[in-house]
Amino acid sequence: MDDLDTPRNSPTAETSILRTLEAHHLLWDGLVQRQSDHIPEYQQALETLNAKELVYFCRCSRRQLKALSRYPGTCRNQMAPIDDAAIRVLTDSYVYRVEDLVAAERRTRLDQTVGDFIVRRRDGLIAYQLATAVDDGQPSITRVIRGTDLSSNTPRQLHLMRLLELTPPTYAHIPVLLNAAGDKLSKQTKALPVDDTKAVANLRTCLALLALGPPEDCLDLDDLLEWAIQRWDLGAIGTQDHRLMSGK
Ligand SMILES: [Zn+2]
Repeated sequence: MDDLDTPRNSPTAETSILRTLEAHHLLWDGLVQRQSDHIPEYQQALETLNAKELVYFCRCSRRQLKALSRYPGTCRNQMAPIDDAAIRVLTDSYVYRVEDLVAAERRTRLDQTVGDFIVRRRDGLIAYQLATAVDDGQPSITRVIRGTDLSSNTPRQLHLMRLLELTPPTYAHIPVLLNAAGDKLSKQTKALPVDDTKAVANLRTCLALLALGPPEDCLDLDDLLEWAIQRWDLGAIGTQDHRLMSGK
C-alpha cells in the first residue's frame, strides 16, 4: 500500500482496494505491506545518501520551477541541513536502461531529463521515488508489474537503487484503461469504482484487453482465473493503453 502521502490518503481506500481484490479472487501472499510501516528503512536510506554526500537541501518553490522541464540544480551547494526544505538527490550522466518484459527497452539520462529530484518532500514526507526504490530493491522482490502510467518513474528508482547498492527487479509496464479524454481511470479523474458484484464480467473484459480473449463462456471466477493463468503471456499484451468510451 502506497500510503505515505498522508494529506491525500482516504481512510477507506485500503479496505475498498482489498475488498475489490477479494471479490475478484485475486489474493496475495503473506501480509499486506504498508509503506507507512517502513518509514525507518526509508530514513536509513536517506542517511546513507547523506553520508555519501549525494543529497542536498532545496527551498525552491513550485512557482519558481513551474516553467522548467528539469530541476536546474540551483541549490546544489546547500549540503548543510536547513529547516523547511525539500531534500534532492544528485543525478549524473549514467544511462539507465529499463529492460521491460512488455515495452521496448528505454534509455534515460536523468541529468538531461528530470535533473536532481526530490527524495524527501518539504513537508517532511518521504517521496514516492525513494520509498518505492527501497521497497522494490529488496532481494525478495524479483518482478514488478505496474501500469504504463508509472514507467517514467522507473529510471529515477533505478538511480536510487544504484546509489543505495540495492538489486533492481525486472519490470513489466502493462497498458492501463483511459477515459474518453485519454486520462487514466482513477479517483483523480473521477472514474467510477469497480463494481464488485460483476466480478466475472469485469475479469472477462480485462482478460480480453490483456490479449487473453475472448475467454471461454460460462466459467465461474476460479475457472476463469485458472483458464487465464494457463494462457498468461506478458509478451502478447502489447504496449497500447485502452480507451474506454463509456467510462464504465
Ligand atoms: Zn532549489
